[in-house]
Amino acid sequence: MSADYDVVVVGASIAGCTAATLLGRAGRRVGVVEQRPDPAAYKTICTHFIQASATPTIERLGLAERIEAAGGVRNAVELWTRFGWIRPQLGDDFVHPRYGYDIRREKLDPMVRELAAQAPGVELLMGRTATALLGTNGRPTGVRVVDRERREREISARVVVAADGRDSQIAEFSGEKPRVMRHGRFGYFAYYRNLPLPTDSSLGWLLDPDLAYAFAQDDRITLMATFQTKDRESWFKRDLEANFEAYFRGLPDCPDLATGERISKILGKLEMPNTTRRAGRPGLAFVGDAAMSADPVWGVGCGWAFQSGEWLAGELASAFNNGASDADLDAGIERYRRRHRRELLGHFLMTSDYSTGRRFNPIERILFTAAARDARCADGFAGLGSRSVRPNDREFARLVGRAIKVSASRGGGAQLQPLSGAHSEGRRLPPASSRRAPRSTAS
Ligand SMILES: Cc1cc2nc3c(=O)[nH]c(=O)nc-3n(C[C@H](O)[C@H](O)[C@H](O)COP(=O)(O)OP(=O)(O)OC[C@H]3O[C@@H](n4cnc5c(N)ncnc54)[C@H](O)[C@@H]3O)c2cc1C
Repeated sequence: MSADYDVVVVGASIAGCTAATLLGRAGRRVGVVEQRPDPAAYKTICTHFIQASATPTIERLGLAERIEAAGGVRNAVELWTRFGWIRPQLGDDFVHPRYGYDIRREKLDPMVRELAAQAPGVELLMGRTATALLGTNGRPTGVRVVDRERREREISARVVVAADGRDSQIAEFSGEKPRVMRHGRFGYFAYYRNLPLPTDSSLGWLLDPDLAYAFAQDDRITLMATFQTKDRESWFKRDLEANFEAYFRGLPDCPDLATGERISKILGKLEMPNTTRRAGRPGLAFVGDAAMSADPVWGVGCGWAFQSGEWLAGELASAFNNGASDADLDAGIERYRRRHRRELLGHFLMTSDYSTGRRFNPIERILFTAAARDARCADGFAGLGSRSVRPNDREFARLVGRAIKVSASRGGGAQLQPLSGAHSEGRRLPPASSRRAPRSTAS
């Protein structure tokens, strides 16, 4: 009996829609199962900074024009540490993608869904939740879904793709266990209007060990975020409104939040463990957060969702063209698994290590010092931060080598930068407040 689809994808967000779109365009029949019924639904807990490493995928999807037409901004980031500002200029010899995008998920998610729906051979099955993985002899053959009226249906496919996010149900059904690394920070963010940033770039403050950032979004909206170590969580939540706004006071070049208009609640994320799992096994592949959810602080998840969706679609499309036996398909999934690991594991380990809430290590201090003093180190740092350069690449080794020389050289000029306001006295815990915690908007 022939299957309903060549591929069934569970999850119609960035990763699932990218894989489905590209597979559909390659001539495959793809069913995309999404639990949310509304095609305009979107992920609310995201700060929307898409790293430049994903730009080639976004362009190949034909999404760049749509993002820009919808007001999405080409992004770059300037980073402050106490060693000074890192302001990459991206000289002529910078060979990597030069910008990513910022566009709020309320615009992006419907857009990727529309793109998938327009691809030949792709059918979006909204309002269906995958409740089981079907299979024979250990090889998945499809999924069972239930719709909003509680009607059940079995959907068969040659390959199942789990694009169902950080808490992947498909992973649970399949018994594919994640590797989990502790995350030691919590985060809060909010949106402001009329809060222009001093330059065209977004800003980040690495306050060692806390972080804050200001991201310029579409519609001239600015997103302000702070991620702090968990010892401050209960105090911070106790007077969230006051503590959130006070946090940004005194940060170098940070706009005064009082001059803008806050247009959202303060949204929070308290638990965000770093998880990764094997991205593929016979008949089953994981893309996006279902394969790897890394520390959100570095704005990597959306980009990796685009990229992993494209890598998988490429391997599967050629496997279907080259015979399409189970063995061909599984070999394609295995190539994808290896590529996923090669491209992303180094970044994942690096960001997970920093996510524990620790202070800068000696290599980071050297890199930040050098990148604040030296234009080539700043550009090298931009290549790493935008995830175009991997920690296991020679280019990264060359960056570290140059950074050691620059930071050891005399007269480079970077003085330790003082902080004022709430941050001037370091990170002493403020006195416990007797106020009750407000109703939490955090998940
Ligand atoms: C606080 C925070 C800030 C972040 N900021 C950034 C940032 O600035 N930049 C960045 O790149 N990344 C950021 N991320 C990460 C980013 O949001 C994710 O990496 C990205 O959404 C992953 O996309 P995805 O397509 O893999 O999964 P998701 O976007 O999570 O989508 C999963 C989809 O699967 C569906 N689904 C789940 N289970 C089922 C089921 N059983 N049946 C049917 N459908 C199902 C869901 O409804 C959903 O549509 C942030 C994350 C957090 C927590």
